[in-house]
Amino acid sequence: MKQTYRIAVLPGDGIGPEIVAEAVKVLNLVAEQAGVTFEFSYGRIGGIAIDTDGTPLPEETLTLSKKADAVLLGAVGGPKWDQNPGHLRPEAGLLGIRKALGLFANIRPATMHPVLVEASSLKPEVVSGVDLIVVRELTGGIYFGEKKRYSTEHGEVALDQCIYHETEIERIIRVSFEIARKRQKRLVSVDKANVLESSRLWRKVAERVAVDYPDVELTHMLVDSCAMQLVRAPKQFDVIVTENMFGDILSDQAAMLTGSIGMLASASLAEGSFGLYEPVHGSAPDIAGQGIANPLATILSAAMLLRHSLGMDAAADAVERAVWAVLEAGHRTGDIASDRSKAIGTEEMGQLVLAELSKQPIHQ
Ligand code: NAD
Repeated sequence: MKQTYRIAVLPGDGIGPEIVAEAVKVLNLVAEQAGVTFEFSYGRIGGIAIDTDGTPLPEETLTLSKKADAVLLGAVGGPKWDQNPGHLRPEAGLLGIRKALGLFANIRPATMHPVLVEASSLKPEVVSGVDLIVVRELTGGIYFGEKKRYSTEHGEVALDQCIYHETEIERIIRVSFEIARKRQKRLVSVDKANVLESSRLWRKVAERVAVDYPDVELTHMLVDSCAMQLVRAPKQFDVIVTENMFGDILSDQAAMLTGSIGMLASASLAEGSFGLYEPVHGSAPDIAGQGIANPLATILSAAMLLRHSLGMDAAADAVERAVWAVLEAGHRTGDIASDRSKAIGTEEMGQLVLAELSKQPIHQ
């Protein structure tokens, strides 16, 4: 009997449905080639869920996600919901699903492929050869600590608490060591230990866990220094691990070394093999519905899904090879095209990837 995997698909808002459709076509071809079955179940998240269900994260969406082996998500948000109160904003759906599914490790690769060197705003000699991963802690820290707002006689006061438990730090540090172990075995733990107590605990736990990974070199870097080094000499990095807010900022900065937001994939992992996969970019309301969005970040996120949640490494490699082959042949969507008049659309890009993929043997 064929192996069956369940994949929850949450297209979301804006360009979400357009780009997710192309990634699903790629997964269908992978299933055919690898002799497995993917059962897709669709759910609503973000603005569309606010409109239909009155909440950015309906119970039904959570239930079908929990039943799945992995989740593929498009993007959420748009101007229509920008003035909504906090709990009725599309982003609340994202924060909610991360927490509810225990997605504590956000993995963001930044790889400079030679064909895209000209898309970076940095000099080719600085960025060519960059191949790093930022691992961001996703469910703790200042984004989830207590929040307060109150008035005093001198005006309003706002407070956001940054809290980390030792266990939360340990599990993300372990994930990072495991990733580094399969790469160049260099891990940089980023904190602000000269100022923050939570960072001092972070550093202590990182040192303790390092004893279990003698084959991996651990170094520490302050977040401000890391921000500078990422732009000055990004090739020095292999794996970077950091807490939630620092990771939010540094992962965007690292991603931009490679030039295009339309190419960047991400994975958010729970304990075990379960994960949620999504492009790094947002719902791009400015180009939604025009059929011109770049679907490659979502297709590359689907490749990460195959690798991390389904253990289909050969299929993941084949999808990535197909994407690079299409780019090497000179095809570009508008966001990465140097000559926009020659840019192709979302579906055409998807079709080209399918055509390349059908030439790639998948031996699982
Ligand atoms: P964005 O990433 O949506 O767009 C930034 C720019 O990049 C836009 O010009 C857009 O057209 C372009 N772009 C993004 N993805 C592209 C693609 N695949 N192909 C071609 N061009 C692409 O960021 P934004 O404009 O700051 O935010 C728009 C909405 O998305 C907001 O509501 C924001 O809250 C939301 N958002 C959601 C996520 C998410 O779902 N994870 C992440 C970031 C922003």
